[in-house]
Amino acid sequence: MPLTLESVRQDFPLIVGKPDLVYLDSTASSQKPQAVIEALERFYRESYANVHRGAYSLSLAATDAYEQARHTLARFIGAQPEEVIFVRNTTEALNLVAYAWGLHNLREGDEILLSEMEHHANLVPWHLVAQRTGARIKAIPLTPEGRLELCALDELLTERVKVVSLVHMSNVLGTVNPVAEVARRAKAAGALVVVDGAQSAPHMPIDVKALGADFFAFSGHKMCGPTGAGVLWGRAEVLQELPPFLGGGEMILEVHVDRSSYARPPQRFEAGTPPIAEAIALGAAAEYLMGVGMEQIWQHDRALVEYCLKRLDEELPEVRTFGPRGKDRGGVVAFSLGSLHAHDVACALDQYGIAVRAGHHCAQPLHRKLGLASTARASFYLYTTFEEVDRFIEGLKQVREFFK
Ligand code: PLP
Repeated sequence: MPLTLESVRQDFPLIVGKPDLVYLDSTASSQKPQAVIEALERFYRESYANVHRGAYSLSLAATDAYEQARHTLARFIGAQPEEVIFVRNTTEALNLVAYAWGLHNLREGDEILLSEMEHHANLVPWHLVAQRTGARIKAIPLTPEGRLELCALDELLTERVKVVSLVHMSNVLGTVNPVAEVARRAKAAGALVVVDGAQSAPHMPIDVKALGADFFAFSGHKMCGPTGAGVLWGRAEVLQELPPFLGGGEMILEVHVDRSSYARPPQRFEAGTPPIAEAIALGAAAEYLMGVGMEQIWQHDRALVEYCLKRLDEELPEVRTFGPRGKDRGGVVAFSLGSLHAHDVACALDQYGIAVRAGHHCAQPLHRKLGLASTARASFYLYTTFEEVDRFIEGLKQVREFFK
């Protein structure tokens, strides 16, 4: 069943309140539905207390709501609740894996396999860990269309590769990588598999078991949730063996002055007071998205991106777009307009009420590969309409005329 767009849009107060705004920056962060705003407010107004520590009813109710959110997020990605770790965002999730797993498992001469389309969140943590362990970083190259060069994989996957960490959907190219296939080949070569799901989890149905990875990271704020809460999923057997990343309250079994032992997952990885209200509201966001239907959201994104690319191709030959054309492409359109600077294009579009992002989108290696310092980027989500894509195209035509 296609999305009932008008009713979806009515769920988003900011969109209803700003009828002239064309918000095309959901890849950076999404707008929030009323259900999420209410869940956040209701918790602070009616049920707020710290979790896990109280014997009193209010704290027990807060703990129940927090743990309920964990169950919801587990259902959202086809996992078990004890495999769901609440973190701040994808960046923190990937740092957790790089430090907790990498520092204990990587040695000099080992290799970390990434790709040329990674976000800095899946590059810099590995750089830091490589510096400390002596491991070496390699990258899967890209085809000219912006897909992974899978032919190179067998040669890259030597026995020295101990971890493959890969983005599921690129925030610049929109490419959806064949993670299940890469995971199968990487596991056969004996490597751990980490997936950056920051752009896939908000936009398509996710079944972590089917992906075959060991870790899957995503951010709440990109999937209609609040800022400050995200998820690291870890395969139960891997989490059992994983040492903690941060130490402090909540993650312990027993503490002495000179030593401590640690709780079982997921508590072992949630040191200190967690983002309680944010996690609960993230649970509401996951419920909301599942209510709309993740497959419907994906099909809607796909229809928008195909429509947008077709119109750009036909009507704006000066626009260069990046990323593959096909079913493995999500609702992200990074582009350049002639020789104009991406920031000028974005600022000019803003004059028409069209919000797009400009810059390197935290993917400098990819932009270097494209031969550009920056691109402008329009991105779509469940509340984006075809009329908004039309306004974007018309806006670009005006910008082209203005700078002629
Ligand atoms: N990975 C990808 C592919 C992203 O697009 C982003 C954010 O844009 C991140 C990681 C980092 O997400 P966050 O800033 O929420 O940690």
